[in-house]
Amino acid sequence: MSWLTWARHVNLCRHMRLGGPTKHRTTRPLFSGLVLGAALLPAMLYAVVAWQDRISVLNQAGQNVRSTVRTFEEHARNVFETHKLVASLINDHIRGMSWREIADSDALHAYLADVVRDYPQIKSLWLIDPAGLIRNSSAVFPAPSVSVTDRDYFTALREHDTGLFIGQLVHGRVFTEDIFNVAQRRSSASGSFDGVVVVSALPSYFTNFWNAATRQPGVAAALVRREGAILARAPPADADTPPLAATSPLMRAIDTNDSGFYRGVSTIDGRDRIYAFQKISGFPVYVGHGISESGALRTWHDHLLVYGGFFAMGTLGLVLLALVAALRAGREAVALHHWRETAQQLNEEAERRAVVEGQLRQAQKMEALGQIASGIAHDFGNILYVIAGYLELLQRRAAPGDLELVTKALGAASRGRGAIRSILSFARRQPLSPEVFDLNAALSSMDSMLRQALGSRVGLEIVPTGAPCWITADRNQTELAILNVALNARDAMPSRGTLTVATKAMRLAGEPDGLAGDFAAVTVKDTGTGMPPEVLAKVFDPFFTTKVPGKGTGLGLSMVYGFTKQSHGAVTIESSAGRGTTVVLYLPLSASSGAIAR
Ligand code: ADP
Ligand code: MG
Repeated sequence: MSWLTWARHVNLCRHMRLGGPTKHRTTRPLFSGLVLGAALLPAMLYAVVAWQDRISVLNQAGQNVRSTVRTFEEHARNVFETHKLVASLINDHIRGMSWREIADSDALHAYLADVVRDYPQIKSLWLIDPAGLIRNSSAVFPAPSVSVTDRDYFTALREHDTGLFIGQLVHGRVFTEDIFNVAQRRSSASGSFDGVVVVSALPSYFTNFWNAATRQPGVAAALVRREGAILARAPPADADTPPLAATSPLMRAIDTNDSGFYRGVSTIDGRDRIYAFQKISGFPVYVGHGISESGALRTWHDHLLVYGGFFAMGTLGLVLLALVAALRAGREAVALHHWRETAQQLNEEAERRAVVEGQLRQAQKMEALGQIASGIAHDFGNILYVIAGYLELLQRRAAPGDLELVTKALGAASRGRGAIRSILSFARRQPLSPEVFDLNAALSSMDSMLRQALGSRVGLEIVPTGAPCWITADRNQTELAILNVALNARDAMPSRGTLTVATKAMRLAGEPDGLAGDFAAVTVKDTGTGMPPEVLAKVFDPFFTTKVPGKGTGLGLSMVYGFTKQSHGAVTIESSAGRGTTVVLYLPLSASSGAIAR
């Protein structure tokens, strides 16, 4: 490898180590992930918190319904206790009176009316004789002749004493308003049936309380008898409303428990409700209350808004942070990229300079060496010329015994002049006689001479280009240069090997050595020992040799170098230890040659 190719190789390696274009583009998905995460994480957290809150809001609503139902139960229990008390009070009041006395007593009517006035939950009071006729009341006096034998309380209490009987919701016989009757049996001293005391109760007393207690306009509550008859209901029911079916959720709940809690769809308005129910202690009556789930969830929706606000602000903050981080990181990546590019450019520039400086130094060194060598060679050349002249004179008149010595001296002088020519070649001071000739033809004429020089152990392959390769150069010097390179190859292949000499026409554009235009390249490639870089760096120096004295002069490649330069061409050498050597001679193609392979 020549120092030129070597420098280019180093340059390439550094280039690769720098890694070419940077990778800041690959960081982009990472940053979008970061921003997405900053947005998604709070959203997921929000969903979890919202769901938890929904559960707790619904639980809280359930607790509220239960406690409201407890209030309703307490209220209803008080009302029924009052009904019972009033019925007993009146029973006591009329004890000992005959039904005729009862029917005729104006004072009794006034008494009953007074009681009704004191108890707003009571609509009216009625005294019914064993035949089922109304005999006195709080409402009208004298009592109208109306029979109640068909009423549930009458038929039930006539059979036996059931305690306080709570009748179903009915249209009033005297007033049109819907009421339910709470009745108590009168028994004679002998225990036989002696009529009933009837308290007509107002369903509105319950519904008004429910509305007031819950402070809700659309309260859903009901007071029902054990078997499903509705006594009072909000929204209001009338006497024609059928009793609750046994399959209704409330009836099913009552079947198993005295109090409880369930969720279901209202049979009245079809809305999802959370219900609680409880038995009125001491009476076969239940109170139930439901709140709409959507109503309960309104609180939850309010929470959602508040939480949502916080989470949105948090998310916004996080996303902004992530964006800022991503932007900054992106900018840093771009800056790093630019920095790397700049560093790489600087590096390349520095390497280019180093290469050019190296070339310059080498050229200067060769120039200086050339000048010194040519000065010396010139003087020595003259001296050798004189010495050789005298030796030739001496040769003609030498005694036979001395002739051999003189001939040897003449041979040495001739070799000296060869060396002088090489030095002059290197210094580009060798007079050249350029001519146009076919390089391929010249090579084939060298074939046998080369084979002889290489010896039997080294094979020779000549690979000419297809067409004749016309060049303009000094033919003798060209052949001498090729021979010098071939001899070096032979020395590098002491045991065996192959030498390949190939020619090619090519167009150059600045490489190698600033050559531009059409050239013939003679590539001489061997399979020999090759050279380490420190040897390679000096091969063109005159007198540089690694060979033993007498074997090498160190002038072979110097001659090739000087000759190719002087012929407006160049020489390159590529080699590494153990991998053979390739020397390429570039010589200008003659203008008439059309042998360029494109
Ligand atoms: P010389 O052959 O007299 O030593 P050259 O100028 O021809 O001088 O070569 C200089 C040196 O370059 C050689 O001594 C050798 O070390 C090295 N050299 C040249 N050609 C080759 C080659 N083909 N293979 C290995 N080494 C080489
Ligand atoms: Mg040599």
